[in-house]
Amino acid sequence: MNLAHLLQRQARTAPEQPAILSGTQVVATHRQWAQRCQQLARQFQAAGLQPGDRVALFMRNHVRYLEVLFGAWWAGLAVVPINAKLHVREAQWIIDNAQARWAFVTADISPDTGERLTGLARVIDVDSAQADALWQGPDAHFETPITERAADDLAWLFYTSGTTGRPKGVMITHRNLMTMGLGYFCDVDAVSPQDTLAYAAPMSHGAGIYAIPHLMAGARHMVPPSGGFDPAELFALGQQVGPLSLFAAPTIVKRLVDHAETAGLSTRQCGQSFKTVVYGGAPMYAADIQRALRVMGPCFVQIYGQGESPMVGTVLARHHLQDSQHPRHPERLASIGVAQTPVRIRVTDAQGRDLPLGDIGEVLIQGDSVMAGYWRNPEATAKAIQNGWLFTGDMGCLDADGFLTLKDRSKDMIISGGSNIYPREIEEVLLHAPGVAEVAVVGAPDAEWGEVVVAFVVPHQGHTLDTTALDALCLQAIARFKRPKRYEVVESLPKNNYGKVLKTELRQRLA
Ligand code: AMP
Repeated sequence: MNLAHLLQRQARTAPEQPAILSGTQVVATHRQWAQRCQQLARQFQAAGLQPGDRVALFMRNHVRYLEVLFGAWWAGLAVVPINAKLHVREAQWIIDNAQARWAFVTADISPDTGERLTGLARVIDVDSAQADALWQGPDAHFETPITERAADDLAWLFYTSGTTGRPKGVMITHRNLMTMGLGYFCDVDAVSPQDTLAYAAPMSHGAGIYAIPHLMAGARHMVPPSGGFDPAELFALGQQVGPLSLFAAPTIVKRLVDHAETAGLSTRQCGQSFKTVVYGGAPMYAADIQRALRVMGPCFVQIYGQGESPMVGTVLARHHLQDSQHPRHPERLASIGVAQTPVRIRVTDAQGRDLPLGDIGEVLIQGDSVMAGYWRNPEATAKAIQNGWLFTGDMGCLDADGFLTLKDRSKDMIISGGSNIYPREIEEVLLHAPGVAEVAVVGAPDAEWGEVVVAFVVPHQGHTLDTTALDALCLQAIARFKRPKRYEVVESLPKNNYGKVLKTELRQRLA
């Protein structure tokens, strides 16, 4: 099994179909994409790289991202995509840990990234003349065979965001990604060759992984010229090339919705720009998805997954989001949906015993999307995977229909006076208050209670928040002991590159 076969198949069956776009401009057909990958594969082989060796990508979103990924796979290598927002020193740590042989970089990360990275046989700036030489067109008739890999061989070494301690390398295999790709069609969306996947979120993460189902279906892959997320650009590109599909963190969805609202776009106009917006990676609050559906129409699908089971966990499908007549629709909107087709989900206590429906416990996932383990870290692997089940560290509860509602990561749970408090519950309430744009609730150390609840609140522009009114709202909706003891009104919340609120940083501010 090798993911490169997906590209070879398209290069044979739909060679002249536009495959990679920079904005509206086609930069590769399937045939050209496959040729460039073969060219790269030959270069890797000529330099002595062996199947299983690692190639790092420390790149911002770029049209050559997809060529490096599939070129490396073509030669039987594994890729190590690194978050472009990391410091060079952090990237170096990952490169050393992965023992990567080559690295591909974009100069815009920092002009001297290439010189600062060490321990690599080659560092290639993908925009340089050196890269052009590497990519130089081969004889079109000269085929380089794909180096076969076993289904469980490493394809993608994904370094977890590592909010505490050093990041861990998650070993994602060809089977994991093949499973994810096929599962997309069952659970998330149908894809046709006329569709376009836009890379608006970092390709080193979920957005890049979605290249696989879109390649399976022969769709187009588009990197916006801005290289990232610009709502006005995306709306315009969708109008020009046809409705886009994309993966986005909830904060990005919010900005798309803000743009649509400010620009006075109708849902029909939004539908001309977007076919499917898959959101996940961080909590989407019920109030926010309701507004998104109202403003942009039924283009949304929610997924839940984690690096350890990439993009495959649960799904809250389009029809679930639209089924407003269902008696439990409000609860479903606040949930993360049902198990995706390739996996089973359980909620258990710390010993791995199933809990009754409705009880909160740790979320476990089992299936062919679950990682092979952590890179050279058997202790962490043994802790994360027990009896074939992945312990996600996320806390949640299941209902009788199979819908999973996430409470929080176990480490984000607050214990105050011996009671467990899940920040998300409070965040959901506070987001309904007029003038509140964003909320993050964390625990602050407290001599008497162990921890007390503190809410960081971002007001909408021009609003002054009345914390007494916020407290009154909490009193109406949740148990007294869960109410924030303190409010911190802030201009913005600290977030990582993937749009996740950095609660660790908020806790540090309070410590
Ligand atoms: P990562 O491994 O960086 O992709 O982070 C995965 C974590 O993000 C999960 O373990 C969850 O805590 C969180 N997450 C992912 N998807 C969702 C979602 N749809 N809703 C809430 N949290 C999510």
